[in-house]
Amino acid sequence: MKRIFAIIISKVIMKLARFLGHNGTNFCGEAAVKIYPDLLEWFSSQVKKGIILVAGTNGKTSVNNMINAILKEAGYSVVCNELGANLDSGIVSAFIGSSDVLGNINADFACLEIDEAVLPKILKFIKPDFIIFTNIFRDQLDRYCEIEMILNKIKTALKDNSGARLIINADDPSLVEMGESVPNLKYYYGMNESMDTTDNHVGADSKNELIKDSIFCRRCGNRLQYERYYYGQLGYYFCRNCGFKRPVPDFCASIEKTPMHLKVSGRDFFRANIFTGFINSYTAYNTLAAVSCAALLDIPTAVIEKGLLGYKPQIGRMEKFFINKPIVFNLVKNPVGFNETLKAIGQDNREKTIAIGINDYVQDGRDVSWLWDTNFEILLDFDDKIIKYIVFGRRRHDMALRLKYAGIQMNKIKLADSPKLAVHYMVSDRSSVAYIFANYSLLFETRSILKRRSKDVSDYHMPSVS
Ligand SMILES: [Zn+2]
Repeated sequence: MKRIFAIIISKVIMKLARFLGHNGTNFCGEAAVKIYPDLLEWFSSQVKKGIILVAGTNGKTSVNNMINAILKEAGYSVVCNELGANLDSGIVSAFIGSSDVLGNINADFACLEIDEAVLPKILKFIKPDFIIFTNIFRDQLDRYCEIEMILNKIKTALKDNSGARLIINADDPSLVEMGESVPNLKYYYGMNESMDTTDNHVGADSKNELIKDSIFCRRCGNRLQYERYYYGQLGYYFCRNCGFKRPVPDFCASIEKTPMHLKVSGRDFFRANIFTGFINSYTAYNTLAAVSCAALLDIPTAVIEKGLLGYKPQIGRMEKFFINKPIVFNLVKNPVGFNETLKAIGQDNREKTIAIGINDYVQDGRDVSWLWDTNFEILLDFDDKIIKYIVFGRRRHDMALRLKYAGIQMNKIKLADSPKLAVHYMVSDRSSVAYIFANYSLLFETRSILKRRSKDVSDYHMPSVS
């Protein structure tokens, strides 16, 4: 009875929130769990074929939605938190959205992205078949704790979930060490050497790379050596002291140039060619993770390829608008993701305007010191093509200061008191394209301004890091 009450209440809240134009996914899940705490266990026990969790700092929304697209192409019914509400409340909401008032769901698979800090808690209620780990970078450290602490909590939780098979990014030493210390069956995916030939910003000698969160061996504490270095702490690493090194991947991929596609090969003679348009280092990793999971689920190659062709990135992930000029809108939330996005826009040779909105509410992380860990110096490589920098949001002054310290001329930086004004400045200058970045609490407001003013929301999307 309590269960039915919880579901009805949260369904009403969900409808009301949508009617008022809000994205109420977290709130209605929270209400439901308060009334009936075992709701998650109840829902997940009804999933027929498998539960897939996607965790990690960057890329989980993309990977999760790619797997969802593939499973749907294969004809399965799927429960998925596709909008990226990845706290426990968001996951409950995804199930409620697919259930009837009695709490019955009809799902072959559940495909859920989970905030890595919430994963240990979720594992008490859900017994997943697969957990995909994308990467672990520093993210909102004031809200969560250090990487070490998160990884240790995940390790402890996995010891009680030894039936879950792990799909791990072989190029990330922190994840590999975590995997090695738990009994679960593991599969690895990683990029082939040829990745860096397609992107000259990614290379072992990249002088701009300041961030290597995990530069020390997690087994023995010695400094890790990199035979090949991509970004963050990703690459071909090894430890001279204890022999810890990148495992040989079960699935690997390379970016092929003409025509551009991702070539994946793996265990049991698996081969696939993924044509999804523009591919760079981070979309390659996301796609490879999704394809590896699909291959392990025995989905036929042709279905995987077709499913990914139909995949559309979620809102605020390199989303395109048109107001006087093409506008690309992207969520930014941590240094590694921001760096990769800045590198990607450097490949666009048009004269451009860049707008950056930074807030400091709880969901953004109250501490904005991550702006100082972000490598805005990358902008200097193509500053001559940037007409203006517009900064907005509650921490616009911090952002302006950060750009100044990066070496940007102050007369190119304009402060906007609201997102509306920022969009106005952005579309009124003479540049031929504009890029607008915002962190989480500015995402929906900024997007609704863009959507209202946009003449033609193209269905073409560039891939994203998130
Ligand atoms: Zn070592």
